[in-house]
This record gives sequence, structure tokens and C-alpha cells, in this order.
Amino acid sequence: MNAPVPSLPTIPSAPLAARPVLRERGQHEVFCGLTGIVWLHRKIQDAFFLVVGSRTCAHLIQSAAGVMIFAEPRFATAILQDQDLAGLTDANDELDRVVGRLLARRPDIKLLFLVGSCPSEVIKLDLSRAALRLSRSNPKVRVLNYSGSGIETTFTQGEDACLASMVPELPTVAAQANDPLMVVGALPDVVEDQFKRLFDALGVPVTFFPPRRSTALPTLAPGTRFLLAQPFLAATAKALEERGAKRLSAPFPFGVEGTRAWLAAATRAFGVSDEHLARVVEPSEQRARTALTQARERLSGKRIFFFPDSQLEVPLARFLSRELNMSLVEVGTPFLHQDHLGPDLAMLPADVTVSEGQDVDRQLERCRAARPDLVVCGLGLANPLEVEGLTTKWSIELVFTPVHGYEQAGDLAELFARPLVRRTRLEV
Ligand code: SF4
Repeated sequence: MNAPVPSLPTIPSAPLAARPVLRERGQHEVFCGLTGIVWLHRKIQDAFFLVVGSRTCAHLIQSAAGVMIFAEPRFATAILQDQDLAGLTDANDELDRVVGRLLARRPDIKLLFLVGSCPSEVIKLDLSRAALRLSRSNPKVRVLNYSGSGIETTFTQGEDACLASMVPELPTVAAQANDPLMVVGALPDVVEDQFKRLFDALGVPVTFFPPRRSTALPTLAPGTRFLLAQPFLAATAKALEERGAKRLSAPFPFGVEGTRAWLAAATRAFGVSDEHLARVVEPSEQRARTALTQARERLSGKRIFFFPDSQLEVPLARFLSRELNMSLVEVGTPFLHQDHLGPDLAMLPADVTVSEGQDVDRQLERCRAARPDLVVCGLGLANPLEVEGLTTKWSIELVFTPVHGYEQAGDLAELFARPLVRRTRLEV
């Protein structure tokens, strides 16, 4: 006899316009998009990221990536010199020389990204023309460009810009009955493998974008359906839609509930029954629920405040509130994409303050007044808030750590529980 089938989570369908959003514009505290190179160079294993920037950019990327453990590094900075910045020399000539030397020494590079920075944007160095020129003169290497600049951006936009630059490269094929689903967003290999096994068991053909090797790009057919794995891929989704792909709307796959609903968006689109989905995921959900138990004891009833940083804030707040019983004080996010975040937003409690953008001084005032048990914020705010006696969690860790899907649900919850445990120990 079959086991009883657990029902799918209920996603309220309250009109999004009904939720007031506090929109702020002022000084903000975020990292720049260069940070994405840290996880993207691990994901696309034959790509090289050449930042065209300053010594500051070189220091940021080197310190964010930690000690270089590769015999052959896969990112570097072409440093703009004072003469380049002053417009006294043609930075393009120097860039061509650097790229020529790099490709001669590293024939394993199949895809080269020229990554723009604040300095290259300020001097209006046209990296798209440079990429075209260098692609023509190096036919064995595809040269693309995107901006990782920190001017008016936040750190996860680097991945979005990188993937959007790859969308025109995806080969077009004719539509077929079994066109695979495309999962979009860089996932750690271990998480990608787990999702692949689940989709195989569900009978949903799947490809992942970005791929592990740039020579194995997924194909696009008219009407290819795609599912975002990350909530910060607005430009990539737009570029895919402009090529005729269709986005499946779903909450993001954090925690048991989010993962089930995310998978359900795929299975329903591919004609797989909810009962089959429930049976396939039951063992994973059991493990995940058990893994959440301990963290729930520590986190239940605790008040949490999100500063806008990673763009993961809304789906994480949904997970913490619904599966760990945390109380949301304020959920700040740099950008609120109503279409992409709609299903997660609809599951937040009605009384929580959702804010978009940042005026850091005003938000700090609200945070200090609320005295939450846990503050999720960027590194620049964490130390001062700790000194004031608040407990913090670095939001960047949530992007560097595998957190998607059932098998990571317990680890994700622990990331929030750990700072509270640390604070308790310090106080003993
Ligand atoms: S891109 Fe801009 S914000 Fe990022 S390290 Fe370089 S100068 Fe700083």
C-alpha cells in the first residue's frame, strides 16, 4: 500500500500590491559584483575572469577568494595605471597585450570574461568592443564581457551580469516534445547533483545554466521552460525571455517548503502528478525536517532583522518565519523584483516591514530601536553592530555556503543558529 501523500504547501494568493513596501534611497553598504567571481570561477571550470580595474579591485577579489590553492589561477586583474586613468594612453593596447600573454600561456582557457569595474566604467573603457576584437583575434577562445562594478549595484549582481552575457551564446535548437527544463543560477556541484538525481527520479529532463564547462552550454528551443535557482537573476531571466524561454514562477528552494514548491512548479509544467512528486521527495523531506529540529529549538520566537545585501533576504525570511518560527522585524532587500519574488513575498506574515533599497543611517536607527536577537547584514555593518551588543550574521556567507534544497536545509538553519549560540557562550 502506498504511504499517505503529504499535501503541497499552500501559497497564499494575496495581491502583491496590498503589501506596503518601504522604498529608500540613500547611502548604502554593499560589496561590488566582482565578488561573484569567487563562486563563478569554481563553477565554470574552463573559464577565466580578467578584471579590468584598480589595485583596490585586485585586493578585494584576492581577499574574498582567500588563499589561491590552484596551480593555475582562473582570475586576475589587469590593473589600470595612472596614465590609463588620466587618458594619457590607450588602455585597449595594454589590454590586448595582457590578454595575448595570458592566452599564449594558458591554452586551457576556453572562455574569457573581461570584467568591468568602477575605474573602467569611470574612464568609459568599452569592454564590449574589446571583447569582440579579442574574440576575432583569438578564434579558439570566446571572449565575453560584463560589469562587476560597485557603482549602484550589489554583490550578487555580478553573477546576474555574467550569466546574462552568456545567454546570447546558448545554441538554438528546434522545439521538441522532451525539451529539458533549464535550472538557472550557479549552484555548488554537490547541490546540482542532488537536484539532478531528484529531477531524474521525477522524470523531468533537466539542464543547468551556467554549465560546469563552457563548451557544454545548454540549448534553447522556442518555449524552453526555466526555473530560477537564485532570486538575483533579473537580467538573466529577461535575456532568456527575450529569446523565447518561459520562466516558471515558484518560491525559491530554501527549506522543505520552498524546495517542494520549487520542484512542484517543474513537475506540474511537465505533467508529473503531485502524488508522484510527494512520494519521490518523502525520504529527503523526512531527513530535512529532522535536521531542522535542533535549530528550531534555538531560533523559535527569536526576532530577526535583515539589512539589504544579498537579494536572498525575502526567500530566507519566508523559510525562517514559516519553518523555524522566527519573528521577522524588517526584511530589507536591495531590489524587490515583484514577479520573481511574488510567491515568497506572499508567504511572509502580513505585518512584517519589507523595505527596498537603503538609507543606511535610517535603517540603523530602526534596527537599534528594535533591538532584534539577530541581524543579517554585510561585513561593513556587522562589527559596529556587534560592538553595540547586537548579534549578527554575515549575509555573504549565505551565498558562499551550499544552502539550497532538502539536504542543505539543516545547514542553512544552523547558519542562523550559530551566532546566537556564540553570543550565549560569550556571555557565560
Ligand atoms: S569594482 Fe569598484 S567597488 Fe569593486 S573593488 Fe573595484 S573599485 Fe572597489
